[in-house]
Amino acid sequence: MSWSRIRGQDAARSTFAAAFAANRFGQAYLLAGPEGVGKRLFARELAKALLCEKPPAPLTACDKCPGCAQADAESHPDLLVARKPDDKLEMPIDEMREFCARLARKPVRGARKVGIVEDADDFNASSANVFLKTLEEPPPGAVLLLIATDAERQLPTILSRCQVVRFAALSDEDVAAILEANGVADAAQRARLAQLAGGSAGRALALDDDSIWDVRKKLVEGLTGPRVSFQQLAELWAKFHEDAGKESAAQRARAALVLKFLIEAVQQALKLSLGATVTGLDAGEEARLRAFAHRVGTDGLMALLDKCVEADAHVERRVQLILVVEAVVEQFWRHAER
Ligand SMILES: [Zn+2]
Repeated sequence: MSWSRIRGQDAARSTFAAAFAANRFGQAYLLAGPEGVGKRLFARELAKALLCEKPPAPLTACDKCPGCAQADAESHPDLLVARKPDDKLEMPIDEMREFCARLARKPVRGARKVGIVEDADDFNASSANVFLKTLEEPPPGAVLLLIATDAERQLPTILSRCQVVRFAALSDEDVAAILEANGVADAAQRARLAQLAGGSAGRALALDDDSIWDVRKKLVEGLTGPRVSFQQLAELWAKFHEDAGKESAAQRARAALVLKFLIEAVQQALKLSLGATVTGLDAGEEARLRAFAHRVGTDGLMALLDKCVEADAHVERRVQLILVVEAVVEQFWRHAER
């Protein structure tokens, strides 16, 4: 891996390169930006460059020395990573205690240690408190890289001690290129996934899963069809969340995804009802959406669109998911019954 593998984050790279060249490299950075745009990969590459024993250029890893090999294998003694275990909702205090204790020891291979905190969004009061002591006085030469989705969500005590480097959403082009590099062979599929993923390669890769498209077909067809089976569709949708695992963020991401599919379908029906052409639909889908538009009417479609957008906001505001699902399915069901 090298910098060339990280797409779309040249601005962030320039920030670090400039600080390094000016001999003003900081001790703590908060890498803030949306999920799935490469922040973790970037932090790994940066750490490797900082730990490389024969850098071919400033802040660039050689990818050949033992330090680089160990960094790639996650076995470098001076590279520490703190992350929230999958089955926990918050960063455990023990994880931070161990991280801080190891960071305080002398570097083994070179001049510095690099500590990456992968889930800075998930500190609780006690794990943040443990970490704060290290952040206030990092060991000499240590560099801390915190990864977060939103700088504004961080505790002021943490934020005030970090330099914030913002990561932007990726272009559809970059997302498609990352999909290609990860083995998504079909160009049309790459374009479609990139469009749905809203600038997140992580989300696009997660969308490359047949079971998701199967659920989409059943839900969109069921909800825009002539008879809406409230119970069956609400259960199918709720099960789709549960299949994402216990973590609420993953479940919310799936709820938001279904809403995106529904919004897309209602918008397509609206366009068709207004005589516009919609690309990417097969004959069966187009006929179904036309019939749906005819049945529901323009005002009804607009009302459904509003409900879906409103539901999307509720998903983000952490309203109970099953309530969101039932409210949306009920709206489609009402319109179908009229
Ligand atoms: Zn190296």
